[in-house]
Amino acid sequence: MRGMDSPSNPPHSPAPLDDVKRRLATPVEFIRGVGPGRAQLLERLGLRTANHLLFNFPRDYQDLSDERAIENLQEGQLQSVRGVVTEVAATSSGFGKSRVAVLIADGTGHLRGVWYNQPFMRERFREGMTVLLTATPKLKGLMWEMSHPLVTTLASDEAKIDAKLLPVYSLTEGLSQYHMRRIEQSAVTEFADQLEEVFPPALLKRFQLTPLVESVRAIHQPADREELERARRRFVFQELFVLQLALSIRRSEQRQLKAYELPATPRIDARIRRLLPFELTESQAKAITEISADLALDRPMNRLLQGDVGSGKTIVALYAMLVCVANGRQAALMAPTEILARQHAETLAKLLEESRVEWALLTGGATRSERDDVLRRLADGSLNLVIGTHAVVQEDVKFKELGLVVVDEQHKFGVRQRSALRQGDVAPHYLVMTATPIPRTLSMTLFGDLDISTLQSAPAGRQPINTYLVEADREAKWWHFVRERLNEGRQAFVVAPLVDESENVAAPSVAEAFERLTNGELAAFRVGLLHGRLTSPEKQDVMERFRRGELQVLISTTVIEVGVDVPNASVMTVVGADRFGLAQLHQLRGRVGRGSRAGYCGILLGETNEAARERLDAFAKSTDGFALAELDFALRGPGDLFGTQQHGMPPLRIANLMTDRDVLEEARREAQLLVAADPGLKHADNARLRQQMLTRYGKALELGDVG
Ligand code: ADP
Ligand code: MG
Repeated sequence: MRGMDSPSNPPHSPAPLDDVKRRLATPVEFIRGVGPGRAQLLERLGLRTANHLLFNFPRDYQDLSDERAIENLQEGQLQSVRGVVTEVAATSSGFGKSRVAVLIADGTGHLRGVWYNQPFMRERFREGMTVLLTATPKLKGLMWEMSHPLVTTLASDEAKIDAKLLPVYSLTEGLSQYHMRRIEQSAVTEFADQLEEVFPPALLKRFQLTPLVESVRAIHQPADREELERARRRFVFQELFVLQLALSIRRSEQRQLKAYELPATPRIDARIRRLLPFELTESQAKAITEISADLALDRPMNRLLQGDVGSGKTIVALYAMLVCVANGRQAALMAPTEILARQHAETLAKLLEESRVEWALLTGGATRSERDDVLRRLADGSLNLVIGTHAVVQEDVKFKELGLVVVDEQHKFGVRQRSALRQGDVAPHYLVMTATPIPRTLSMTLFGDLDISTLQSAPAGRQPINTYLVEADREAKWWHFVRERLNEGRQAFVVAPLVDESENVAAPSVAEAFERLTNGELAAFRVGLLHGRLTSPEKQDVMERFRRGELQVLISTTVIEVGVDVPNASVMTVVGADRFGLAQLHQLRGRVGRGSRAGYCGILLGETNEAARERLDAFAKSTDGFALAELDFALRGPGDLFGTQQHGMPPLRIANLMTDRDVLEEARREAQLLVAADPGLKHADNARLRQQMLTRYGKALELGDVG
């Protein structure tokens, strides 16, 4: 586990050194066991003061409690053996390789500890001394061996040490675990009692949280598991509580923003519905009702529209944008890729064929003068609606009266980009669409201030996607199947990870797949290659040719992941699937089966390992994107897909969103109560909490007004 944020350091005071030393801001250099040399090493770990050391939590613990006689050792688990050193030997191979071997005996047998390339280990042992070695032992022939065991030197008469958890800290080159432990120990002994409690007493009591000083001591030097757990729980609670406070306060600040009222009057509604090419599904209609209700208010909507691939989110968003335009304000739709922006533009063009709405597409590929023209018309209000990549929201884009922003397939669009779109205290309504459902826990944590609309059902006529796991010896058969589809006039995707040749991994790259397939299984077909390293016009060109059917096969990285709609493509082959998340794979396979025919997705297993196979098996069996996202989350953690950093939020350091769900709920409830009772956290009891919150989230969440 990693450390928490330390409370802000007290300012340096010109007090005599003796006094300063007692304070938390004491430079590490003056702490027992440090000195100038080690201070430099600690600096590399970002540890400059006593306070930093106190909050530099161990990343793990060595359990020394399972101490056994050598004759009772077992393979495969961490154990400790106490014995007398009977032999110390160092050998060197002459190529700079060395081995230190130490033999210890405990009366029931012998055990060898070995260290490679750590010649200095030889100096730690003398024959006749008593040591405790801790590691996972292995039986080598008839002899037990521990490789690179942890060494604890013991006085020979020392009583059996009871349940001990040794802290393990993150290190940097030149700083040993042993020294780091000693340094942390001095810091805790000398400075922990100077810490001031962060929580108001009432809260500590209600949640039975261990006080700060005690917790800091226990997390560095736990007497036992139970004490460690209690200390950990306190810090988990603290971390989540501070986060929830920040979100809560942000929410109440958001509520003070103004927005244009954009009512969907019956006339407006009827006019827009006439433009739609199909009947809305029930859940599309429901989402539209929810969105319309938000848009009619004078404070900004903040809504997530989530729905599986193909559930028909686009039309819902376009409806909202047209409501906005009908009310005389401007609307913007932002897509993560140019391909997608163009696709939306096409849909919109069809929809607006007979309408007077002025709109434009703005992408990175636009020429200077095209761009300038669009910017000018956005600024003077003559453009009602713009579709574009995120380039649209770059600083120099000024809208006359921006009423609504829609962000497609993107979690990354952060707080700061959003407030860039604000005009004074008038903020645009905000709708973000995603096909990657966000597990509830996470949406609560990160998007606590978003309302959610969900599209449950796919529009009628969508075909199921059949997913197969293809074993290496069945690949030829799979490609045969793909060729059959191509010969029927269908098109095919092949998806592979983009892997650098320098990346030195055994994973297949998209370029390699292209090379192999165009010379082999797919040699008879027109094949295109698409990946993120191509220039924008190049991508555009490949995509266009695929869409027109000039290319029969598109070999691609996950650039096609989001939203691309080519109804004639009915079969997809995924290479290197274990490198993708399940939610991502689900998005990918959503690219096929968009037309009136069934879609097929073949996952080539190759040399996929057992764990990955199980994951992929679950994937093949499920068609529920929400369930897959939950499963992904459970198996792999939030990962980069949902990574907090993507949202511009500092990562959590100690709390684990999967295992600490109950604490999260508690923290959330309590934070809301506290903010309701003391909106600006002005009460003296809350001063330290407020301080913590601002230090950590003030910038990321723009908590301006409480600052
Ligand atoms: P996604 O939610 O993945 O963005 P899209 O909005 O691209 O889905 O819709 C997928 C396909 O379904 C599109 O071809 C779209 O035209 C079609 N579609 C959407 N809504 C309906 C509907 N109510 N009836 C029939 N087809 C629809
Ligand atoms: Mg879409």
